[in-house]
Amino acid sequence: MQIPSPNWPGSARACVAMAFDLDGPTGGAMLDGSLWHKPEYFTFGGYGPYRALARLLDVLDAQAIPATFFIPAWVVENWPRQCQAIVERGHEVAYHGYRHESFYALDLDAQREVMAISAGVFKRYLGITATGFRTPSGDWHAQTPALLMDCGVTYSSSMRGDDRPYFIDIPGQSRRLVEIPGRWELDDYASLAYTRSPDYPVGLDRIASYRQTLDNWCREFDGTYREGLCMTTLLHPKICGKPGRIGLIEQFLQHMRSHGDVWFATCNDVALHWRSLHEHA
Ligand SMILES: [Zn+2]
Repeated sequence: MQIPSPNWPGSARACVAMAFDLDGPTGGAMLDGSLWHKPEYFTFGGYGPYRALARLLDVLDAQAIPATFFIPAWVVENWPRQCQAIVERGHEVAYHGYRHESFYALDLDAQREVMAISAGVFKRYLGITATGFRTPSGDWHAQTPALLMDCGVTYSSSMRGDDRPYFIDIPGQSRRLVEIPGRWELDDYASLAYTRSPDYPVGLDRIASYRQTLDNWCREFDGTYREGLCMTTLLHPKICGKPGRIGLIEQFLQHMRSHGDVWFATCNDVALHWRSLHEHA
């Protein structure tokens, strides 16, 4: 099937929006309180902002690639200097809950409260007003897109419905949210995550071969490039930013860079571009 290629700036053939979820130790174990009894698991998460992030920022700098970091605001409160470095080095920071809550489990008032707290933390610690959102749990309520737009969000990177950006309609309203969909193939958890207590993955399967993981990622890009699409990632510094694995990120970026006509952009820039081309189409 021939898919009509979207238009990208500068006659680029394809678009790549590198995105990282700087979750730190937030998530289910924090929300149910069990994290506080598991120092080993806490440090597994804290390694992301405390240690892996700086390594990752250096690699992005070296190849002059902009990125978007979706960050639970609690992580910003606890690792402020590290998170400030993201902004100082020209990258985007966007919403990802306060403590990585499920936006499906929360009612709308609670979702609104999480967004308000997060906006305050981003303003206070980073001096920014975020425009993007990635749902921490991969799901939300039917009314969440309207709520997000009320909170100043203009795009989301939460859903799976395409391999190009698209619009999410708000029932009964003319405004629309831009969605920049990701996919699990480009989530480092799928191949590289491993912890014990709590066990991840369940059954403790082995970590995938690094060589094969890199090959998978490159093939995802190759398909994106061939069809002129838009690709974003769901990478986690605590997983991919370790001494051995950072080489995978380096080689992945080099592989994409070697094509010459790829538009590397933050998710916000992709959303702005998409809206400017298609808002009234
Ligand atoms: Zn996350």
